[in-house]
Amino acid sequence: MPGWQTPARPHIAAMDRTFPPPRAAALDHLARVAPRTGTAYAARRNTDAGPDAEPTTTALSPYLRRRLLLEPEVIAAAAEAHGPDAREKFVEEVFWRTYFKGHLETHPALWSRYLDLVADGRNQLATQSGLRRVFADAVAGNTGIDGFDDWAKDLVETGWLHNHTRMWFASIWIFTLRLPWALGADFFMRHLIDGDPASNTLSWRWVAGLHTRGKAYVARADNIRRYTEGRFSPTGLDEDPVPLEENDLVRTVPLPPAGQPPQGDVALLLHLDDLNPETLDLGAARVVGIGGLLAHPPGAVDRVRHADEQAMDDALARAAARFGCPARRVEAAEDWSGGNPVVTAWAPVGPSAAALPAGCTRMRRPFDELAWPPATRGYFQVKSAIPGILRALGQP
Ligand SMILES: Cc1cc2nc3c(=O)[nH]c(=O)nc-3n(C[C@H](O)[C@H](O)[C@H](O)COP(=O)(O)OP(=O)(O)OC[C@H]3O[C@@H](n4cnc5c(N)ncnc54)[C@H](O)[C@@H]3O)c2cc1C
Repeated sequence: MPGWQTPARPHIAAMDRTFPPPRAAALDHLARVAPRTGTAYAARRNTDAGPDAEPTTTALSPYLRRRLLLEPEVIAAAAEAHGPDAREKFVEEVFWRTYFKGHLETHPALWSRYLDLVADGRNQLATQSGLRRVFADAVAGNTGIDGFDDWAKDLVETGWLHNHTRMWFASIWIFTLRLPWALGADFFMRHLIDGDPASNTLSWRWVAGLHTRGKAYVARADNIRRYTEGRFSPTGLDEDPVPLEENDLVRTVPLPPAGQPPQGDVALLLHLDDLNPETLDLGAARVVGIGGLLAHPPGAVDRVRHADEQAMDDALARAAARFGCPARRVEAAEDWSGGNPVVTAWAPVGPSAAALPAGCTRMRRPFDELAWPPATRGYFQVKSAIPGILRALGQP
């Protein structure tokens, strides 16, 4: 398909914000950013020097989110570039994603609660003109808050914000503008090219003080000045906010059991949370048909939908070549499997999981099987498990 070529550049000056979806481009991107996952990453990752400066992080998230790249693969690339010690900070950050995935898997009600809160927030916007005005100014980048307005416009125009900027943005949204947090999370999910139910919902909850209860993330003007290298200097921020609270806590549920691939002929279903069919362990099953189910994040804008579609088509083409059988996009309600049992990679909580047909066999990857069980509480338990997980996967 046209428009997929990654520009060949000796150095990445500004970040390539098109995130071309095919796995070949993802691998190319990984090769180019692996040298940046060592000590320079640890030293500079909190700095957002702006869209035209050399990036301080890897921008691997659009690929990891769709599993065009796998976590063990990017961790191995970092080790190869730097050795196991210098890449430590980078690996810890990759495991933040894993932690959030495992946490949402064991607290699925946090996702349904978020969806309910988005609906509540929309009702409030419909009935409260003051709130509606503040919301409209926030998403249009028209609040007069230095930095925040640029970030709102950057997000809409490019689908991307640096991690630290996401934290400042969410904090200002919740505590200075006093807008409902779920509407901010929804604004992110619609526009982010890496929009992910677990990382996004739980990061917004974390900023609000709902994830680590009573501990909110506070955006401070001096921190913004420092880590934007003086590009922004906002005034009027609420730097002494009260963390949000919720009355009813969400219960932890056991990790649902994973399936085993059936013997004999199967139909393989691909979805947007795992577009890596070549590496799925299908045991003795023989794939005779392949379907691709597109379940975009709710309200996703065209840029995100287009990236999802390109990524899916690339995965379908790779799967067809790997298994030697036809592959095409399918609809959730369609009967496409020819009567064969349907197998799929595990879809974590979110739109793909909600769209999977009843009765399909969902198989978890060894990485998730190892890393999700300790994710029921805080990140620390996952962090302590990292060396054992990497050893079990045969990584240095
Ligand atoms: C309010 C808010 C919303 C967010 N929404 C999303 C989202 O929808 N999708 C998403 O993938 N990430 C989200 N994040 C996490 C983080 O901002 C992005 O993963 C990161 O900015 C991606 O940039 P990178 O690939 O250059 O990261 P790098 O710093 O290069 O890190 C490498 C990889 O580690 C993972 N990672 C790094 N930091 C985090 C983190 N804090 N939390 C979870 N995973 C992390 C990502 O997969 C990332 O690609 C959000 C953070 C905040 C504060």
